[in-house]
Amino acid sequence: MSKIVIRNPALINMLVSSIEVYKKEALGMLLGVKRGKTYYIRYAINFQKAKRGYESIDIDDRTEKRINSLLTRVSKYRLVGDFHSHPDGPYKLSLTDKKDMKETATDVSVLVVIEKGYKKPKRWKYTNRQLQGSVDGYYVTVQGYEHSKGKIKKIPVKAPYVKNLNRIAKLHQMSN
Ligand SMILES: [Zn+2]
Repeated sequence: MSKIVIRNPALINMLVSSIEVYKKEALGMLLGVKRGKTYYIRYAINFQKAKRGYESIDIDDRTEKRINSLLTRVSKYRLVGDFHSHPDGPYKLSLTDKKDMKETATDVSVLVVIEKGYKKPKRWKYTNRQLQGSVDGYYVTVQGYEHSKGKIKKIPVKAPYVKNLNRIAKLHQMSN
């Protein structure tokens, strides 16, 4: 079965950028490699030019192509997909998200759902193929989707960095 492994720099950036723009949507691209059936996401890079709104984000198609072509000249990584956030849900890709994924032939999409108002810190854990935990009063869910043979399905997401997140949260609790 396919899966997504999110490396530390990518996870940190997705968390920070999604929380930073809450209640707007964050959007970016994912750079990495695919080995076997596993997508290793090394970097998540925000689209600075993205027009952010509550409902949708538009991205200049030419900008995306240009970034992609530059990328192959400066790194071994390639564009494996994209990520975006859903402030306060929904906890799944929208029909538009799925349509976009198909139209742009995106292999992988990571969805970060952000909810505010969790006073009590929650430990990060894997449940139902997704990652959930809290950061500084925000409840975060990270889901991965793969587009393969015309179908889009949720696939497991792993991130080694969650161990650090739990350790850091513990330290903060002790110092408060
Ligand atoms: Zn969406």
